[in-house]
Amino acid sequence: MTQYRDILDRLARGREVSQEELAELVTLSGEPRVLDYARGLAREVRQEWYGHKVYLRGLVEISSHCSGGCYYCGLRAENRSLERYSLSEEQIMEACREGYALGLRSFVLQGGQMMDLEERIANLVVALKSAMPDAAVTLSLGEQPSSTYEAWRKAGADRYLLRHETASAEHYAQLHPARMSFAERLACLEELHRLGYQRGAGFMVGTPGQTNEMLAHEVEFLKDLSPEMVGIGPFIPQKDTPLGGMARGDVATTLMMLSLVRAVLPKALMPATTALATTAGNGTLLGVLSGANVVMPNITPRQYRGSYAIYDGKKSSGTESAEGIERLAEELHSIGYEATMTRGDHPDFPGSEVKQ
Ligand code: SAM
Repeated sequence: MTQYRDILDRLARGREVSQEELAELVTLSGEPRVLDYARGLAREVRQEWYGHKVYLRGLVEISSHCSGGCYYCGLRAENRSLERYSLSEEQIMEACREGYALGLRSFVLQGGQMMDLEERIANLVVALKSAMPDAAVTLSLGEQPSSTYEAWRKAGADRYLLRHETASAEHYAQLHPARMSFAERLACLEELHRLGYQRGAGFMVGTPGQTNEMLAHEVEFLKDLSPEMVGIGPFIPQKDTPLGGMARGDVATTLMMLSLVRAVLPKALMPATTALATTAGNGTLLGVLSGANVVMPNITPRQYRGSYAIYDGKKSSGTESAEGIERLAEELHSIGYEATMTRGDHPDFPGSEVKQ
């Protein structure tokens, strides 16, 4: 317990920290002194590159149709209770135009993984980029053939979010059906990198079967992978999924994981996730105070928000929504941070406004 400062200091300085030491820190997430120290360090590290800026991205949940079978996710193909929807190109454009009028210059189009999306999404990206050339477009549509990733990149997509979900192949196999594999997920992440996307990886905290040793390994894994973006949020059960009866991930451990990953990836863009905001009332601010520097307000047309039911009770209003951007900015200001609506590229990418 007395060693925790030394371990955290070494981690933030890029010095050797063993997996056992990292697992010990994860075990101590519930100790306020340890968690506070880790979060303070994470804030210092993020300030080197980002000062007190928090980048806002407009999130459009474009479709809830999915061919995936992830045991934790309400969008899984096998869930027959979900009312599915797919937004038209015009609806997506309109949502982004409204976000643009509010000042947003970064949009995330997220949805289930389907195999027939290539042309439709390529056309959409072209239309978005011609209407809003100064806005960044991030896609998050699951695993796709490399030719599809390439077509979308050529159409102008800048970034792609594809969480690895867990860095343990065995654990991945416990959370997904046999038709999905960790090797395939890694191959997709590799391909996205090769194609020049700013790519986002990430994992859930508290999924069934996850151990503190696995969480320790996440830090090492992400440091090696070095993605431009990392999403970390607690697992929240969804009642119509095979994991619907399991316990949710815990807030303190999520904040510890955010802090540890921030310590090793100073330049990463890391959201304070909706799952964190759903689990803790002040989750967005807790995340920002643990090294997160991105928030993604939901700009999906309101009538569809309830149908994007990846987990129960998902927050999509208040400061998690377009309507709440002003309040979000005020809340961030109240803790000393500044909401920023510019593109917010990773500092290693051309044109990034973040200091080199
Ligand atoms: N289909 C795309 C994909 O798989 O990357 C994007 C949508 S998917 C719903 C986005 C993320 O939601 C997943 O990467 C997963 O980490 C998260 N998610 C899904 N179910 C969840 C749950 N029950 N609790 C917390 N996060 C969940």
